[in-house]
Amino acid sequence: MPELPEVETIARGLASRVTGDVIESVWLGSKPEPLKSAASEIVAALEAKRITGVHRVGKHIVFDLENGGRASSPVPTQSRRKSAKARGPLPTTAQWIVHLGMTGRMLVCKATQAIEKHTHAVAKLASGRELRFVDPRRFGRLSVAHGFAAAGSEPLEVDLHLFVELFRGRKTPIKSALLNQKLLRGVGNIYADESLFRAGIRPRRRAASLTRKELPRLYASIQEVLKEAIALGGSSVSDYVDADGEEGFFQLQHRVYGREREPCLICKTPIKRVVIAGRSSHYCPRCQK
Ligand SMILES: [Zn+2]
Repeated sequence: MPELPEVETIARGLASRVTGDVIESVWLGSKPEPLKSAASEIVAALEAKRITGVHRVGKHIVFDLENGGRASSPVPTQSRRKSAKARGPLPTTAQWIVHLGMTGRMLVCKATQAIEKHTHAVAKLASGRELRFVDPRRFGRLSVAHGFAAAGSEPLEVDLHLFVELFRGRKTPIKSALLNQKLLRGVGNIYADESLFRAGIRPRRRAASLTRKELPRLYASIQEVLKEAIALGGSSVSDYVDADGEEGFFQLQHRVYGREREPCLICKTPIKRVVIAGRSSHYCPRCQK
């Protein structure tokens, strides 16, 4: 599943490719799962809108949209004035929110390119290209919003004080707390394990038991791991590709994740794997306390 660094990479790739382009029309597939907003709402929010930017919020890709495309039915000046007076003007901005789920991909391609199997949405762009959402397993979600705000704090923006507040007094294992998207958004299994290793903290420790020295260490580790992974272009553990549809990600060398029974890179002790709240957790029993 793409985590924060991958989504950040994809969002940046999309931003550089489609910002300024106009969505002329939208096609949506018949499978209901990927649509978190009603199909008619998605179409209404996207069509004839200019993409003013693309960014990441948690693990969501957010397309900022505003009127300015070729309106399908231009509103005469007079009636526009009337509707403004009635205080019911159409919203001029919207966001298209894409969650990639397990296997979702956003492709920017020529309209002439054959439509892949499992394509659930196609946005035709004024530039002659298309923005396509492909997702074989259909855990991805498409929705639209006006003023989207995700729960939780951005791990790369939160300050140390707030970070400490988020975890203080929590009885759950620190690993589960890191995965709780209502606290920090975007940290998934891989980067949680890697951050805990770098901070020398066992995943099963209760969040509340972390000391005044450990919390700042964990804070620094999370930032370090995420920034390294973003710099590398996100890791590519599952079958997922960048905004161009090309597999082009380098993988951050995992120090514990997926390395069960392999020697710790620091002390050579075999890495252990335990299951916490249904998720695999990897740690070094010697380096992590
Ligand atoms: Zn070790």
